[in-house]
Amino acid sequence: MRVYFELLGDGTVGISNSQSSVNDRKTVNFEGSIVGEFFKRTREERNLSILQVAKLFGFSNIDKTKRNIEDIERSGKHYPEYFRKLAEIYQIPFANVNIITQYQKEFDLKKKELLHKITVEKEKRTELFFLKVIDSLPFLFRHFDRIVCDPDYYFIPMPGSCFSAAYMKSRPELYLGELLTLWKNGKWTSECSVCGGTVYITGAGGSPLSGSGSGWGYCSKCRKAVYGVKHFAEFFNVFLKLQVSEPTFAKSNLTFKDCSGVLKQ
Ligand SMILES: [Zn+2]
Repeated sequence: MRVYFELLGDGTVGISNSQSSVNDRKTVNFEGSIVGEFFKRTREERNLSILQVAKLFGFSNIDKTKRNIEDIERSGKHYPEYFRKLAEIYQIPFANVNIITQYQKEFDLKKKELLHKITVEKEKRTELFFLKVIDSLPFLFRHFDRIVCDPDYYFIPMPGSCFSAAYMKSRPELYLGELLTLWKNGKWTSECSVCGGTVYITGAGGSPLSGSGSGWGYCSKCRKAVYGVKHFAEFFNVFLKLQVSEPTFAKSNLTFKDCSGVLKQ
């Protein structure tokens, strides 16, 4: 039995039983483990349940053995003794297990590199987007009343913005109306420690109980991303007062790109 793996562009791993059949390919969001998947598939091919395998181990504590096998299949956790034993029970050469373990190492490394690349690209896109938004602020503030009164404008999603607070459902994307309101009343802005310009906060996270946490955003003057802006408690308080509860609105179909063109009409 061979299992084929392919690292896909979005950082997930495609798994297939044959090299050529792309259609068979099952995409798994890979938290874990090629090694785990290998042992799981091998066991299933032999029509054995985890409990049956655990009994074949011959260890006195079957429950514990079963838990450890489950652990291996789920996360690939490395129990050298178990790997040997499983190879024996499934009658596979131990060299194959070593090959798969090596695969895993290479994959983890590739995956790490790819995820890093994705993160960097995403950050770059977000930065370009918000610098454009900040450049449009005079225009947006001129149309402020119209934007906050019209749900089509208010609920334009702003990709890359977010808000998360402990014990609260986090908001992965804020709305144009929210950010504009917070920026206009100066509650989600700060002074840039490098150039003294205005930092427009685009995201914040922390704990409302302890007040620990920070915000981040972009400076309108030096045009840099700024992290670690303090006063999370304040960001939290004003955001909470402003936030519209979800069932009351429908997300706008407009995007920020549409917005300026439509507003000019
Ligand atoms: Zn600055």
